[in-house]
Amino acid sequence: RVCFCFGCLIVEGVDMLQLDRLRYQQDRFSLTADFQIAAGDRVAVIGPSGGGKSTLLNGIAGFLAPKQGQVLWNETPMPHHPGERPLSILFQDHNLFPHLTVLDNVAIGLRPDMRLSAHQKAQAISALDQVGLGDKAMAYPRDLSGGQQGRAGLARALLRQRPILLLDEPFAALGPALKDEMLELTREIVHQAGITALMVTHDPQDALNFAQYAILVVDGQAQAPAPIGPLFDQPPPALQAYLGRRAP
Ligand code: ADP
Ligand code: MG
Repeated sequence: RVCFCFGCLIVEGVDMLQLDRLRYQQDRFSLTADFQIAAGDRVAVIGPSGGGKSTLLNGIAGFLAPKQGQVLWNETPMPHHPGERPLSILFQDHNLFPHLTVLDNVAIGLRPDMRLSAHQKAQAISALDQVGLGDKAMAYPRDLSGGQQGRAGLARALLRQRPILLLDEPFAALGPALKDEMLELTREIVHQAGITALMVTHDPQDALNFAQYAILVVDGQAQAPAPIGPLFDQPPPALQAYLGRRAP
């Protein structure tokens, strides 16, 4: 809904993730962010190594307290505790517990004590089906390939049904074919569920394949998301410097 009052063309009532005048500090490194992302958008987070991409995601996740500003979801400041925030996180190592079955590793996303109701168990199995791991429920992480471990991590994130998904180079350790497959699966599932996704990647082609928008993180500043096609077609100097000859 758009507010038609004169002077303010503010979009009202639309769900969004708002990074409101944020500043995070890691020792002498400082990162600022001040923009918003509409619910359901898929956003790539790109920029040079050490530029602050992980810092941005850790801040949104609540692992890092801001020195200034706040993170809001639908105009409500997010709770301080990461576990209470409306989001799930997928890291490269998938955080699978070796002593738990695949099913329990996924179910733990729903209930840390894994005391599932019959309905919740069915949901966990359904999430495994969704990522093509339906037949691996009783296997252990050591029995899974890297790609299958990635799928299990994704199933856990999905089962939590949080509206925001943060991905920090989740599939960087996979070979190209498997990485593309995981990326497409993730994009499809995120799209179907209407999840707002921020994905850090150092691969411009991955960014183009996955996202509609890109945030450039450089020189201690996370820039507002820009439509990704035009951004790569006519990169501003900072992006040009980062892309070098790797422009897709
Ligand atoms: P990126 O993910 O873009 O490679 P990071 O967000 O990991 O960058 O790091 C940004 C900057 O913050 C770097 O200069 C890094 O050295 C610094 N930094 C990251 N984590 C910590 C930490 N735990 N303590 C101190 N400095 C950190
Ligand atoms: Mg990083």
